[in-house]
Amino acid sequence: MRKILVFILLWSLTSVSAQVSFDKYFLPKTLRFDYTTGGNADTSYVYFEQLKEEPFWGGSKKNLIDPFNYGDYMLQVFDSTGKVLIYSKGFSTLFREWIDTDEAKKLSRTYYGSVIMPYPKQKIWIKLQNRNKKQVFQTVYELKVDPTYYFINKERVNQYQTEKIQDSGDPSVKLDIVVLPEGYTAQEMTKFRNDTKRFIEYFFKVSPFKENKQNINFWTVMAPSAESGTDIPGENIWKKTILNSNFYTFDSERYLTTRDVKEIRDLAAHVPYDQIYILVNSSKYGGGGIYNYYNLCTSDNGESEEVFTHEFGHAFAALGDEYEYGYDKAEDLFDMSVEPWQVNLTNLVDFNSKWKNLVDKNTPLPTPVNGEFKNKIGAFEGASYVKKGIYRPEFDCKMRSNATKTFCPVCYDAVLKMLKFYTE
Ligand SMILES: [Zn+2]
Repeated sequence: MRKILVFILLWSLTSVSAQVSFDKYFLPKTLRFDYTTGGNADTSYVYFEQLKEEPFWGGSKKNLIDPFNYGDYMLQVFDSTGKVLIYSKGFSTLFREWIDTDEAKKLSRTYYGSVIMPYPKQKIWIKLQNRNKKQVFQTVYELKVDPTYYFINKERVNQYQTEKIQDSGDPSVKLDIVVLPEGYTAQEMTKFRNDTKRFIEYFFKVSPFKENKQNINFWTVMAPSAESGTDIPGENIWKKTILNSNFYTFDSERYLTTRDVKEIRDLAAHVPYDQIYILVNSSKYGGGGIYNYYNLCTSDNGESEEVFTHEFGHAFAALGDEYEYGYDKAEDLFDMSVEPWQVNLTNLVDFNSKWKNLVDKNTPLPTPVNGEFKNKIGAFEGASYVKKGIYRPEFDCKMRSNATKTFCPVCYDAVLKMLKFYTE
Protein backbone atom coordinates (compact mmCIF):
# COMPACT_ATOMS: atom_id res chain seq x y z
CA MET A 1 0.00 0.00 0.00
CA ARG A 2 2.75 2.36 0.95
CA LYS A 3 4.57 1.64 -2.34
CA ILE A 4 1.48 2.53 -4.32
CA LEU A 5 1.08 5.72 -2.33
CA VAL A 6 4.70 6.71 -2.96
CA PHE A 7 4.30 5.95 -6.64
CA ILE A 8 1.16 8.09 -6.91
CA LEU A 9 2.86 10.92 -5.05
CA LEU A 10 5.92 10.81 -7.30
CA TRP A 11 3.77 10.64 -10.41
CA SER A 12 1.76 13.67 -9.37
CA LEU A 13 4.91 15.64 -8.57
CA THR A 14 6.45 14.93 -11.97
CA SER A 15 3.23 15.68 -13.82
CA VAL A 16 2.99 19.09 -12.14
CA SER A 17 6.49 20.13 -13.14
CA ALA A 18 6.48 18.53 -16.62
CA GLN A 19 6.87 21.14 -19.32
CA VAL A 20 5.10 21.21 -22.69
CA SER A 21 6.41 21.68 -26.24
CA PHE A 22 6.40 25.36 -27.26
CA ASP A 23 6.33 24.61 -30.99
CA LYS A 24 3.39 22.25 -30.67
CA TYR A 25 1.14 24.87 -29.11
CA PHE A 26 2.59 28.33 -29.73
CA LEU A 27 4.01 30.86 -32.19
CA PRO A 28 6.90 33.13 -31.11
CA LYS A 29 4.77 36.22 -30.44
CA THR A 30 2.46 37.33 -27.63
CA LEU A 31 -1.26 37.11 -26.94
CA ARG A 32 -2.35 39.71 -24.42
CA PHE A 33 -5.60 39.55 -22.48
CA ASP A 34 -6.71 42.85 -20.94
CA TYR A 35 -9.48 42.98 -18.37
CA THR A 36 -10.89 45.19 -15.65
CA THR A 37 -11.24 44.03 -12.05
CA GLY A 38 -13.96 45.82 -10.12
CA GLY A 39 -15.11 45.45 -6.57
CA ASN A 40 -14.40 46.17 -2.93
CA ALA A 41 -13.19 44.45 0.27
CA ASP A 42 -16.03 41.90 0.13
CA THR A 43 -16.38 40.96 -3.51
CA SER A 44 -14.77 41.46 -6.92
CA TYR A 45 -15.48 40.68 -10.57
CA VAL A 46 -13.42 40.41 -13.75
CA TYR A 47 -14.66 42.08 -16.96
CA PHE A 48 -13.35 41.53 -20.50
CA GLU A 49 -11.54 44.50 -22.13
CA GLN A 50 -9.61 43.27 -25.18
CA LEU A 51 -7.39 40.63 -26.75
CA LYS A 52 -4.26 41.88 -28.45
CA GLU A 53 -1.52 40.37 -30.59
CA GLU A 54 2.00 41.65 -29.90
CA PRO A 55 5.06 41.02 -32.09
CA PHE A 56 7.57 39.36 -29.71
CA TRP A 57 7.69 36.60 -27.09
CA GLY A 58 10.42 37.32 -24.52
CA GLY A 59 9.69 34.43 -22.16
CA SER A 60 11.15 30.97 -21.96
CA LYS A 61 10.19 28.46 -24.66
CA LYS A 62 11.18 25.61 -22.38
CA ASN A 63 9.69 26.52 -19.01
CA LEU A 64 6.04 27.27 -19.79
CA ILE A 65 4.44 25.94 -16.60
CA ASP A 66 4.98 27.99 -13.44
CA PRO A 67 6.47 25.73 -10.72
CA PHE A 68 6.59 28.39 -7.96
CA ASN A 69 2.99 28.91 -6.85
CA TYR A 70 3.74 32.52 -5.80
CA GLY A 71 1.44 35.52 -6.18
CA ASP A 72 -2.19 36.42 -5.43
CA TYR A 73 -3.33 35.29 -8.89
CA MET A 74 -2.57 32.52 -11.34
CA LEU A 75 -3.01 32.68 -15.11
CA GLN A 76 -3.65 29.26 -16.60
CA VAL A 77 -3.89 28.45 -20.31
CA PHE A 78 -5.36 25.10 -21.41
CA ASP A 79 -5.39 23.52 -24.88
CA SER A 80 -8.59 23.33 -26.97
CA THR A 81 -9.84 20.30 -25.01
CA GLY A 82 -9.63 22.32 -21.80
CA LYS A 83 -7.71 19.45 -20.21
CA VAL A 84 -4.01 20.00 -20.95
CA LEU A 85 -2.32 22.86 -19.13
CA ILE A 86 0.03 24.47 -21.67
CA TYR A 87 1.05 27.70 -19.92
CA SER A 88 0.77 29.22 -16.43
CA LYS A 89 2.12 32.19 -14.53
CA GLY A 90 1.61 33.55 -11.02
CA PHE A 91 1.26 37.29 -10.46
CA SER A 92 -0.06 39.97 -8.12
CA THR A 93 -1.84 43.26 -8.77
CA LEU A 94 -2.33 46.75 -7.36
CA PHE A 95 -6.06 46.02 -7.14
CA ARG A 96 -5.35 43.12 -4.74
CA GLU A 97 -3.27 45.46 -2.54
CA TRP A 98 -6.05 48.04 -2.62
CA ILE A 99 -8.50 45.40 -1.29
CA ASP A 100 -6.64 45.56 2.07
CA THR A 101 -7.08 49.35 2.43
CA ASP A 102 -9.78 51.12 4.45
CA GLU A 103 -11.04 52.72 1.24
CA ALA A 104 -12.04 49.26 -0.08
CA LYS A 105 -14.35 48.86 2.92
CA LYS A 106 -16.22 52.02 1.94
CA LEU A 107 -16.40 52.09 -1.85
CA SER A 108 -16.02 50.01 -5.01
CA ARG A 109 -13.39 50.76 -7.67
CA THR A 110 -12.09 49.30 -10.91
CA TYR A 111 -8.48 48.66 -11.93
CA TYR A 112 -7.23 47.82 -15.42
CA GLY A 113 -5.42 44.47 -15.65
CA SER A 114 -3.45 42.63 -18.31
CA VAL A 115 -1.78 39.24 -18.67
CA ILE A 116 0.37 37.88 -21.48
CA MET A 117 1.02 34.43 -22.89
CA PRO A 118 2.71 33.05 -25.99
CA TYR A 119 0.46 33.24 -29.07
CA PRO A 120 -1.53 30.00 -29.46
CA LYS A 121 -1.73 28.00 -32.70
CA GLN A 122 -5.11 26.46 -31.79
CA LYS A 123 -8.09 27.42 -29.66
CA ILE A 124 -7.29 27.80 -25.96
CA TRP A 125 -9.02 28.24 -22.62
CA ILE A 126 -7.76 31.09 -20.46
CA LYS A 127 -8.44 30.81 -16.73
CA LEU A 128 -7.75 33.49 -14.14
CA GLN A 129 -7.54 32.27 -10.56
CA ASN A 130 -7.16 34.13 -7.30
CA ARG A 131 -6.48 32.93 -3.78
CA ASN A 132 -9.33 32.56 -1.35
CA LYS A 133 -8.86 33.38 2.34
CA LYS A 134 -7.18 29.99 2.90
CA GLN A 135 -4.65 30.81 0.14
CA VAL A 136 -6.13 28.22 -2.24
CA PHE A 137 -6.46 29.25 -5.89
CA GLN A 138 -10.00 29.33 -7.29
CA THR A 139 -11.09 30.20 -10.82
CA VAL A 140 -12.68 33.65 -11.11
CA TYR A 141 -12.79 34.03 -14.89
CA GLU A 142 -12.72 31.79 -17.97
CA LEU A 143 -12.44 32.70 -21.62
CA LYS A 144 -12.25 30.54 -24.75
CA VAL A 145 -10.03 32.14 -27.40
CA ASP A 146 -9.83 31.30 -31.09
CA PRO A 147 -6.48 32.71 -32.33
CA THR A 148 -7.99 33.37 -35.79
CA TYR A 149 -10.74 35.57 -34.29
CA TYR A 150 -10.55 38.83 -36.24
CA PHE A 151 -11.31 41.04 -33.25
CA ILE A 152 -7.91 40.24 -31.74
CA ASN A 153 -6.37 43.71 -31.88
CA LYS A 154 -3.25 43.92 -34.08
CA GLU A 155 -2.92 47.71 -33.94
CA ARG A 156 0.63 48.97 -33.42
CA VAL A 157 0.33 52.20 -31.48
CA ASN A 158 2.99 54.93 -31.12
CA GLN A 159 6.13 53.32 -32.52
CA TYR A 160 9.15 54.49 -30.50
CA GLN A 161 12.85 53.91 -30.95
CA THR A 162 14.23 51.01 -28.90
CA GLU A 163 17.68 50.06 -27.71
CA LYS A 164 19.22 46.88 -26.31
CA ILE A 165 21.45 48.42 -23.66
CA GLN A 166 22.79 45.14 -22.26
CA ASP A 167 22.93 42.46 -24.97
CA SER A 168 23.51 38.94 -23.67
CA GLY A 169 21.78 37.09 -26.51
CA ASP A 170 18.61 35.14 -27.39
CA PRO A 171 15.61 36.43 -25.32
CA SER A 172 14.13 32.93 -24.97
CA VAL A 173 17.07 31.80 -22.82
CA LYS A 174 17.75 35.14 -21.09
CA LEU A 175 15.98 37.26 -18.52
CA ASP A 176 14.77 40.31 -20.47
CA ILE A 177 14.15 43.50 -18.51
CA VAL A 178 12.58 46.44 -20.35
CA VAL A 179 13.18 49.85 -18.79
CA LEU A 180 10.44 52.39 -19.60
CA PRO A 181 10.95 56.14 -19.16
CA GLU A 182 8.34 57.99 -17.10
CA GLY A 183 8.34 61.78 -16.82
CA TYR A 184 11.26 62.31 -19.21
CA THR A 185 10.57 64.89 -21.92
CA ALA A 186 11.94 64.52 -25.48
CA GLN A 187 14.82 66.80 -24.44
CA GLU A 188 15.58 64.49 -21.49
CA MET A 189 15.97 61.23 -23.46
CA THR A 190 19.78 61.37 -23.12
CA LYS A 191 19.33 61.69 -19.36
CA PHE A 192 17.03 58.64 -19.44
CA ARG A 193 19.65 56.64 -21.32
CA ASN A 194 22.39 57.67 -18.88
CA ASP A 195 20.17 57.03 -15.83
CA THR A 196 19.33 53.56 -17.14
CA LYS A 197 23.00 52.74 -17.69
CA ARG A 198 23.83 53.92 -14.16
CA PHE A 199 21.16 51.64 -12.66
CA ILE A 200 22.26 48.66 -14.76
CA GLU A 201 25.82 49.16 -13.57
CA TYR A 202 24.66 49.09 -9.95
CA PHE A 203 22.29 46.14 -10.58
CA PHE A 204 25.24 44.03 -11.73
CA LYS A 205 27.13 44.78 -8.52
CA VAL A 206 24.46 42.93 -6.50
CA SER A 207 24.47 39.12 -6.13
CA PRO A 208 23.16 36.94 -7.69
CA PHE A 209 22.70 39.34 -10.66
CA LYS A 210 26.46 39.98 -10.63
CA GLU A 211 27.27 36.34 -11.36
CA ASN A 212 24.50 36.13 -13.99
CA LYS A 213 25.28 39.17 -16.11
CA GLN A 214 25.65 36.96 -19.20
CA ASN A 215 22.07 35.73 -18.67
CA ILE A 216 20.34 39.12 -18.57
CA ASN A 217 19.29 41.53 -21.33
CA PHE A 218 18.26 45.14 -20.71
CA TRP A 219 16.09 46.98 -23.24
CA THR A 220 14.75 50.54 -23.39
CA VAL A 221 11.87 52.14 -25.28
CA MET A 222 12.48 55.86 -25.91
CA ALA A 223 8.97 57.16 -25.19
CA PRO A 224 8.95 60.80 -24.05
CA SER A 225 6.45 62.49 -21.72
CA ALA A 226 4.90 65.93 -22.31
CA GLU A 227 6.13 67.12 -18.90
CA SER A 228 9.05 66.29 -16.61
CA GLY A 229 8.58 64.49 -13.26
CA THR A 230 5.56 62.70 -11.80
CA ASP A 231 2.39 63.40 -9.80
CA ILE A 232 2.84 64.17 -6.09
CA PRO A 233 -0.76 64.65 -4.89
CA GLY A 234 0.26 65.49 -1.28
CA GLU A 235 2.25 68.48 -2.60
CA ASN A 236 -0.39 69.34 -5.22
CA ILE A 237 2.07 68.59 -8.05
CA TRP A 238 0.48 67.14 -11.19
CA LYS A 239 2.43 66.29 -14.36
CA LYS A 240 1.32 65.13 -17.77
CA THR A 241 3.40 61.98 -18.22
CA ILE A 242 3.21 58.96 -20.51
CA LEU A 243 2.61 56.30 -17.82
CA ASN A 244 0.56 58.41 -15.36
CA SER A 245 2.53 57.43 -12.26
CA ASN A 246 2.02 59.02 -8.84
CA PHE A 247 3.35 59.06 -5.29
CA TYR A 248 0.92 58.78 -2.35
CA THR A 249 -0.58 55.48 -3.53
CA PHE A 250 -3.11 54.45 -0.85
CA ASP A 251 -2.10 57.73 0.84
CA SER A 252 1.44 56.43 1.52
CA GLU A 253 3.75 59.26 0.45
CA ARG A 254 6.63 57.11 -0.79
CA TYR A 255 4.49 54.48 -2.56
CA LEU A 256 5.01 55.20 -6.26
CA THR A 257 2.74 53.32 -8.68
CA THR A 258 0.61 53.72 -11.79
CA ARG A 259 -2.79 52.33 -12.73
CA ASP A 260 -2.15 52.80 -16.47
CA VAL A 261 -1.42 49.13 -17.18
CA LYS A 262 -2.70 49.45 -20.76
CA GLU A 263 -0.12 52.08 -21.74
CA ILE A 264 2.63 50.15 -19.93
CA ARG A 265 1.90 47.02 -21.99
CA ASP A 266 1.71 49.03 -25.23
CA LEU A 267 5.17 50.50 -24.57
CA ALA A 268 6.76 47.27 -23.31
CA ALA A 269 5.50 45.38 -26.40
CA HIS A 270 8.11 47.21 -28.51
CA VAL A 271 10.67 44.59 -27.37
CA PRO A 272 10.74 41.01 -26.02
CA TYR A 273 10.44 41.21 -22.21
CA ASP A 274 9.98 39.24 -18.98
CA GLN A 275 10.05 42.12 -16.49
CA ILE A 276 8.98 45.75 -16.74
CA TYR A 277 10.96 48.47 -14.94
CA ILE A 278 9.54 52.01 -14.96
CA LEU A 279 12.21 54.60 -14.24
CA VAL A 280 10.56 57.77 -12.94
CA ASN A 281 12.38 61.06 -13.49
CA SER A 282 12.34 62.45 -9.94
CA SER A 283 14.65 62.94 -6.97
CA LYS A 284 11.94 62.06 -4.44
CA TYR A 285 12.39 58.91 -2.33
CA GLY A 286 10.06 56.09 -3.30
CA GLY A 287 9.18 53.14 -5.48
CA GLY A 288 6.99 50.10 -5.91
CA GLY A 289 7.26 46.50 -7.11
CA ILE A 290 4.46 43.97 -7.64
CA TYR A 291 5.09 40.35 -8.65
CA ASN A 292 5.09 39.84 -12.43
CA TYR A 293 3.25 43.17 -12.78
CA TYR A 294 5.81 46.00 -12.76
CA ASN A 295 8.65 47.77 -10.90
CA LEU A 296 8.98 51.52 -10.34
CA CYS A 297 11.73 53.62 -8.81
CA THR A 298 12.93 57.20 -9.08
CA SER A 299 16.06 58.27 -10.92
CA ASP A 300 17.81 60.73 -8.64
CA ASN A 301 17.28 60.05 -4.96
CA GLY A 302 20.38 59.22 -2.87
CA GLU A 303 18.87 55.79 -2.14
CA SER A 304 17.45 55.10 -5.62
CA GLU A 305 19.99 52.41 -6.44
CA GLU A 306 19.07 50.41 -3.32
CA VAL A 307 15.36 50.90 -4.02
CA PHE A 308 15.91 49.67 -7.60
CA THR A 309 17.06 46.19 -6.48
CA HIS A 310 14.66 46.01 -3.51
CA GLU A 311 11.62 46.57 -5.76
CA PHE A 312 13.00 44.05 -8.23
CA GLY A 313 12.96 41.48 -5.41
CA HIS A 314 9.19 41.96 -5.22
CA ALA A 315 8.38 41.99 -8.92
CA PHE A 316 10.82 39.31 -10.04
CA ALA A 317 10.92 36.77 -7.19
CA ALA A 318 7.68 37.60 -5.33
CA LEU A 319 9.61 38.44 -2.15
CA GLY A 320 7.64 40.04 0.67
CA ASP A 321 8.79 43.16 2.53
CA GLU A 322 10.72 42.25 5.66
CA TYR A 323 10.04 45.49 7.58
CA GLU A 324 7.31 46.64 9.97
CA TYR A 325 5.12 49.54 8.89
CA GLY A 326 1.85 50.61 10.42
CA TYR A 327 0.26 47.34 11.63
CA ASP A 328 0.56 46.05 15.20
CA LYS A 329 -0.64 42.50 14.72
CA ALA A 330 -0.60 39.93 11.95
CA GLU A 331 -4.38 39.32 12.06
CA ASP A 332 -4.88 42.76 10.52
CA LEU A 333 -3.38 41.49 7.25
CA PHE A 334 -3.09 37.69 7.40
CA ASP A 335 -5.25 34.63 7.92
CA MET A 336 -3.15 33.11 10.70
CA SER A 337 -4.40 29.55 10.16
CA VAL A 338 -2.29 29.18 6.98
CA GLU A 339 1.24 30.12 5.93
CA PRO A 340 1.58 33.31 3.87
CA TRP A 341 2.54 32.38 0.28
CA GLN A 342 5.67 34.59 0.20
CA VAL A 343 8.85 32.47 0.31
CA ASN A 344 10.64 34.82 2.79
CA LEU A 345 7.76 35.25 5.29
CA THR A 346 6.37 32.84 7.86
CA ASN A 347 3.85 32.85 10.70
CA LEU A 348 5.40 29.57 11.94
CA VAL A 349 2.17 27.65 11.17
CA ASP A 350 4.08 25.38 8.77
CA PHE A 351 7.68 26.50 9.11
CA ASN A 352 8.90 23.22 7.59
CA SER A 353 7.50 24.38 4.24
CA LYS A 354 9.71 27.48 4.45
CA TRP A 355 13.38 27.78 5.50
CA LYS A 356 13.44 25.74 8.74
CA ASN A 357 15.98 23.34 7.18
CA LEU A 358 18.47 26.25 6.99
CA VAL A 359 18.23 27.09 10.71
CA ASP A 360 21.06 25.90 12.94
CA LYS A 361 19.87 23.66 15.81
CA ASN A 362 21.40 26.05 18.35
CA THR A 363 19.40 29.03 17.06
CA PRO A 364 16.19 29.56 19.07
CA LEU A 365 12.81 29.91 17.32
CA PRO A 366 11.50 32.56 17.30
CA THR A 367 14.96 34.10 17.24
CA PRO A 368 15.73 36.99 19.63
CA VAL A 369 15.98 40.23 17.63
CA ASN A 370 19.30 41.37 19.06
CA GLY A 371 22.91 41.46 17.96
CA GLU A 372 23.60 37.92 19.16
CA PHE A 373 22.05 36.26 16.12
CA LYS A 374 22.78 39.02 13.63
CA ASN A 375 24.32 36.84 10.94
CA LYS A 376 22.36 33.66 11.64
CA ILE A 377 19.30 32.35 9.82
CA GLY A 378 16.30 32.11 12.14
CA ALA A 379 12.78 33.48 12.49
CA PHE A 380 12.98 37.15 13.45
CA GLU A 381 9.68 38.75 14.45
CA GLY A 382 8.49 41.78 12.45
CA ALA A 383 7.92 41.69 8.69
CA SER A 384 5.40 42.51 5.97
CA TYR A 385 4.31 45.79 7.69
CA VAL A 386 3.42 43.86 10.87
CA LYS A 387 5.16 44.09 14.26
CA LYS A 388 3.91 40.81 15.77
CA GLY A 389 3.29 37.31 14.42
CA ILE A 390 5.10 37.45 11.07
CA TYR A 391 8.75 36.41 10.90
CA ARG A 392 11.65 37.05 8.50
CA PRO A 393 14.72 34.86 7.84
CA GLU A 394 17.54 37.14 8.95
CA PHE A 395 18.18 40.17 11.15
CA ASP A 396 18.61 42.35 8.05
CA CYS A 397 18.15 41.89 4.28
CA LYS A 398 17.74 44.00 1.15
CA MET A 399 14.00 43.32 1.52
CA ARG A 400 14.11 44.96 4.99
CA SER A 401 16.32 48.02 4.71
CA ASN A 402 18.46 50.06 2.36
CA ALA A 403 21.34 49.79 4.83
CA THR A 404 22.29 46.33 3.59
CA LYS A 405 23.33 45.73 0.02
CA THR A 406 22.72 41.97 0.03
CA PHE A 407 19.75 39.62 -0.01
CA CYS A 408 19.46 37.26 2.98
CA PRO A 409 20.13 33.58 2.06
CA VAL A 410 16.41 32.78 1.67
CA CYS A 411 15.77 35.73 -0.66
CA TYR A 412 19.03 35.09 -2.52
CA ASP A 413 18.02 31.50 -3.18
CA ALA A 414 14.55 32.57 -4.43
CA VAL A 415 16.09 35.10 -6.84
CA LEU A 416 18.59 32.53 -8.10
CA LYS A 417 15.90 29.90 -8.72
CA MET A 418 13.82 32.43 -10.64
CA LEU A 419 16.85 33.41 -12.75
CA LYS A 420 17.36 29.75 -13.60
CA PHE A 421 13.71 29.37 -14.61
CA TYR A 422 14.03 32.17 -17.22
CA THR A 423 17.47 31.29 -18.52
CA GLU A 424 17.86 27.53 -18.83
ZN1 LIG B 1 15.35 38.37 2.86
